[in-house]
Amino acid sequence: MPTDIQTAAHLAQSDVPRPLSHFGSGRRETVIDTQPRGDIAATAAIASISDQDWYISRTHGVYHIPACAKKTAETAGSDAPYALLLITSRGDVIDIGDGRRLPFAISAREIADDLLQDLHDHGIFVCAGARPTPGELVAATSRRDAYYHRLISEGDTLWARGHSFREISDLHRRAAMTIGVEREWAYVPMRLSDCPACGEKVKAGVAVCKHCRAILDPAKAAQHGLGGGAANSTPPTTATPVVAHSAPRK
Ligand SMILES: [Zn+2]
Repeated sequence: MPTDIQTAAHLAQSDVPRPLSHFGSGRRETVIDTQPRGDIAATAAIASISDQDWYISRTHGVYHIPACAKKTAETAGSDAPYALLLITSRGDVIDIGDGRRLPFAISAREIADDLLQDLHDHGIFVCAGARPTPGELVAATSRRDAYYHRLISEGDTLWARGHSFREISDLHRRAAMTIGVEREWAYVPMRLSDCPACGEKVKAGVAVCKHCRAILDPAKAAQHGLGGGAANSTPPTTATPVVAHSAPRK
């Protein structure tokens, strides 16, 4: 049974207000129940196993679902990692015309369900409790993986048609990266910058220019024994500035 509050919440999802015909155009007074109904004050927990940050904009706020930290060697033995976002209820106002504004409350659960409309397939869900259970995390992972595998085969099909990067969307690329499959079409062109010494294109962040051997990042070069601008094979014992400064003071 749709309550007034739910109706109002659904209207708030759209940036463009829909005609409020069911409020009755002839009535001057509109009574809306904004009293808390039990779960209004409660929080809802959104869990995410997605490796991306998600920002969702609504009339009542911008919500950030943080990226889930990657599983490392240190955390490999522990429970599956997830990121958590706690949602609380919000108030909002609808402009119903004639200068009248209608305040209402949206429960945390309604907000959470609304935010996740398109995100379930990315491994994001509303927890039944305050935290995700292992079962919920497993279910979210298999749903996400199934969706991403569908995207990857779609990417394969699109790529086979004409090897055009324009056919491949970010969604396809992210799916391939998240699942960890190597695909020609998932290749993201590396950022290149100009070497200040010779002007050739070099990868961003490299220690030494591969064209002219100029040291582009002295600290990184020293770390790899490439200081001094001499041969690449110079061992790190060469008295680079880094080593000289670390000599004990008297
Ligand atoms: Zn260079």
